[in-house]
Parts: sequence; C-alpha cells; structure tokens
Amino acid sequence: MTLPQNMDYFDRAEALSRDEIEALQLERLKHVVEIASRSPFYQERLAEAGVTADSIKSLDDVRRIPYTTKDDLRGQYPYGLTTVPTDELVRLHASSGTTGAPTVIFHTQADLDQWASLMARSMFIAGVRPTDVFQNMAGYGLFTGGLGIHYGAERLGCLTIPAGAGNSKRQIKLIQDFNVSVLHIIPSYALYLVTYLEKEGIDPKTLPVRIALIGAEPHTEEARLRIEELLNVKAYNSYGLSEMNGPGVAFECVHQNGLHVWEDAFITEIVDPETFEPLPEGETGELVMTTLTRQGMPILRYRTKDLTGFLPGDCPCGREHRRLDRIKGRTDDMIIIKGVNIYPMQVEQVLLAIPEVGQNYLIELYSEGYIDQMRVKVELKEEHFVEDMRALGSIQKRISSRLRDELLITPKVEVVQHNSLPKTEGKAQRVSDMRQEVS
Ligand code: AMP
Ligand code: ZN
Repeated sequence: MTLPQNMDYFDRAEALSRDEIEALQLERLKHVVEIASRSPFYQERLAEAGVTADSIKSLDDVRRIPYTTKDDLRGQYPYGLTTVPTDELVRLHASSGTTGAPTVIFHTQADLDQWASLMARSMFIAGVRPTDVFQNMAGYGLFTGGLGIHYGAERLGCLTIPAGAGNSKRQIKLIQDFNVSVLHIIPSYALYLVTYLEKEGIDPKTLPVRIALIGAEPHTEEARLRIEELLNVKAYNSYGLSEMNGPGVAFECVHQNGLHVWEDAFITEIVDPETFEPLPEGETGELVMTTLTRQGMPILRYRTKDLTGFLPGDCPCGREHRRLDRIKGRTDDMIIIKGVNIYPMQVEQVLLAIPEVGQNYLIELYSEGYIDQMRVKVELKEEHFVEDMRALGSIQKRISSRLRDELLITPKVEVVQHNSLPKTEGKAQRVSDMRQEVS
C-alpha cells in the first residue's frame, strides 16, 4: 500500500510505513531491553533467559523475553520495576483493580510527554481538532482516564474541561454553557446519562456534542450504536491500560473499523491464552504488550488478559499501524455455567439489541444447591415497564429466548424498573458474584 503523502496527521509517527514501523520497533526493542535490565527484576529475568540488547537481531526475538504478569508487578510493589532514581519520577498511577489488588506505574517527565502525544494523536485520528471544546468525564485521580486523556487533549490544543466523574447535573450545565463538542465518557455512564437527561426533560440529541470517546471498560457494538443514536454523536473506541500508560494505546480512527495500536510505542502480540503460542492475524487470543519508549518503568511482554485479535486488511485512512478488534472480554471474566463458557459481553450484545431494553443490566451468579446459576436483571425503558403482567411476561420470554440462542443455556431473566439497578461513577460492575450463598 502506498502511503498517502497528503495524509492529515498530528504526529508524523502516524504516517510511518510498515517497514519504518518495524525498523523503529527493532531499534527500540534493543534499547528497552537495555534500560529494563537496570531494574533488579528484569536484570534477573533477562539474565535467566539469556536475553541482552545485543542478542536481539530481529523482531521475532521478542519471543525470547519472558512474559510479565500482574502478579509480577504486585510482587515488585512498590519500586521493583523502576529503572531511574526515584527523584526522576514525576507521576504515579494505579490500575483500577478491575480484578484484585492495584498495581502502581511510575512515569518520568519524558514518559508523560510521550504519553500526551500518543493521546493527542489518538484523539486526532478520531476527528478531534484544536477548535473543539473537550469535556473529560472520567475520574481524575489514580485512574489514568482522567489525567491521561487530559494532557492529550491539551497537547492537541482543545479547550479542555476537567469535569471528572459523576454529578450529571453539573456535567450537562458545562456541556451546554461551553458548547462542548467532544466528550470522553465511559460507555456505561453515557447510557446512564441518556436516562438522566430524559428524566430532566432534556432531549439528549439537542446537546452540542458531536464526538464521544468511549472506552476504559468492555462494551459491545450494540452499546456504541445506542450511544451514537441516543446522543446523536459519533462514538470512537479508546483502549488502554495503566501498565501501558493508560488511554492512548489503541484508538479507532474515523472509519470505526477496529483500533489502530501505536506500534512505534508498543510491540503488540496476540497469543493463545493457554499455550502462549503466537496466533495469526484474525484469531482471538490474549493481548501481550511491550512498552518501547517508556523510561521510568518499562514493561516487557505484559500479559494483559484482554481478549482480542488483529483485524486483517488495510485501513482507508492510510495509517499502517495495525488494528485490534474490539476487546471481547478478559481471560478472567469468563463465567462457566452448566459447563458452558459465557462472557458478559455476549449478554450485553443480546440485551442492547432488544428495543424495549433500557440502558442498564446486571448479571448475578448464585448457587442453587451445588449448581451455579445465572440470573440477568434487565432494566426496561420507562414506557415498556407497564402494570400489565402479560405484556411484561412476554418481553421477559423474548429476552430469555434470545439469550438462550446466544449462550446455549437459559438464564433466569428478571425485568426491572427503569433506573433501578445500581450504577457506578467509574467502570461498571456488570457481574455480581453471589456464589457460595445458597439461595
Ligand atoms: P485500568 O488499567 O485500571 O485502567 O484497566 C485497564 C483495563 O480496562 C484493560 O486491561 C481492559 O480490560 C479494560 N479496558 C480499557 N479500555 C477498554 C476498551 N476500550 N474496551 C474494553 N475494555 C477496555
Ligand atoms: Zn484508520
């Protein structure tokens, strides 16, 4: 594919050809191996595996490097993976602890600068421009969705409103008063916001917003379509994780056909989660990532536990950074009920495609005797939650049968009133595990 010379880019790195990307990756891989071995942890790991910077001859040599897991990071808490004196570190973030105890990540000033430019180019490819007014509705604090996105938006040149999470009333006022054109919003909160606006008598479609950057938690194409339709915006998927900085790892461009992963900054592999063998393009497996530019705390071959795959083909935008498929789930969020493997996103996909279903749901797992059972609580849209038991019964039956078609088991379905399920300001808790408790 020839690179369009007139490509509109924010950062020249977006326009690198495959050959240029791979040459840069090799050079940077050698460098990162060298600097990583300044941490006691990697010094030992790399020596055991016989990996030195000089022994890296091709990109395939990345496979000689041992994996790093979340447990490794926990075991090195707090400073075991840093490679510079602590007085050169300027920022600490922590993962939200989607599962288990948090892990901390440190950055030097150079790391923060690089992160801000990755984030700025991510927003740029989704069509955000310096003329936009940008409101960040993610929590500011240890979570990277606050400051991480914030510095990217400022780097791009947007008027940036650090609204933080929650307080829907204030969020709406800011959007209206400052003519906000771009939002960063967690998808479950975006869906909740629609409910909130309707309750306040505001038509969500009348807001000035044209783009919503959505990410930080798994969501389906059905959720994206709802957000786009209900808020009258274009919604772009944003993927990242604290261990690889946070947001700005992989982002959808205006073509919305998968997430370009910034390969000049990360080496990305997809491996079989059981055998750890590399998987070919198009197959789904565990995403493994290596930081190529981070100086204060490089991480090599991190097993993210996120399930995705590379999408085949070229992107019409001309960027040759490969595209990842939407994250399908995590290796550790699979539910096994009656011997059948189920991912929460399969449930969401079914539910949000049903017009009567509202914007929130909850999967409950419980034990009945010694058998694990699953119950799906589904909020209905206000107009469909009627007194007529027969009407409700028929919606319930339809949801149940669609879930059975997708999951191959029949979970119990309970339709509940609009806006009655618990909601969080940050990442949604879609599964409530009450197993052990016999009910
Ligand atoms: P944290 O480091 O605490 O911000 O959590 C990072 C994790 O959030 C990732 O490993 C994913 O499991 C999840 N995540 C982030 N962005 C997305 C996204 N766009 N789609 C699905 N999951 C995501
Ligand atoms: Zn593209």
